[in-house]
Amino acid sequence: MRVFQHTISNSLSFSGVGLHTGVDTSAKIVPAGPDTGIVFRRMDTGTEIPATVENVAETAYATVLSAGREKISTVEHFLAALYGMEIDNAVIEVDGPELPILDGSALEISRAIASSGPARQDVRRQFLRVWENDKIRQNGSMVALSPAVEMEILVTVDFPASAIGRQWAKFTLTPENFLKEIAPARTFVLREQIDALRAAGLAKGGSLDNAIVVEGDKVHNTEGLRFPNEFARHKLLDFIGDIALLGHPVRGSFLAIRPGHTMNHAVAGYLASPSYSASPAPPVTPGKFPVDIQVTA
Ligand SMILES: [Zn+2]
Repeated sequence: MRVFQHTISNSLSFSGVGLHTGVDTSAKIVPAGPDTGIVFRRMDTGTEIPATVENVAETAYATVLSAGREKISTVEHFLAALYGMEIDNAVIEVDGPELPILDGSALEISRAIASSGPARQDVRRQFLRVWENDKIRQNGSMVALSPAVEMEILVTVDFPASAIGRQWAKFTLTPENFLKEIAPARTFVLREQIDALRAAGLAKGGSLDNAIVVEGDKVHNTEGLRFPNEFARHKLLDFIGDIALLGHPVRGSFLAIRPGHTMNHAVAGYLASPSYSASPAPPVTPGKFPVDIQVTA
């Protein structure tokens, strides 16, 4: 993990349809100074919405942030890309209420960040350490946290549709792993959910160009899957995007059983609580933690 804060070296532009609004939109990531964090700027209204845990407004089908009456929707893949590529400071200028979904993954964003290259800033990053073993449970989901030197994530998913079934993905978060193993994993939807989503006014921009569509044992996308466990990898990508709202790199290990945005937000909220605090890098010696770790069965 980098010790100093970084921004991007030059501005990066993206355009495409918004997954839920169905409206064509564009987004531009621009460099920002040290300690800015990630900030969304609605160019149509001039509102700035910092990417923080406190600004989360909705977690049902995407992560939605708000500031006052303004919202910005489907932020998680952009946030995951910046966090995964270890970019601490950037402003994301968006011309409407939702980010473009692109191909449903974070690949285009991450590749652009990699080709722009990180720009080092003269301020140290503040790391957030997981201090003790803990579990958070919610509606059939569970996340277990434990101390670790890097950020390690293991995600499992479990769906009746046999094209997904039970699968898992596990990675230590590094820019290399993120770009190659996590960023390409696309979002997915069950065929039988589509009508209900549309009836609820959602997924208006959804198509086979930006989501994997699953029906029983079948994947409708003619190109097939990018990884046999692409579904678990995408849930891991979403987890990173939601944890990114903490605004700090995290040293900790996460075991996430059937996570979703609501669960991820609960984990981020827990780590953002006063019992956890950011501390200056470099942190603890590997294998040595300032508290006794009670390992229970
Ligand atoms: Zn996603």
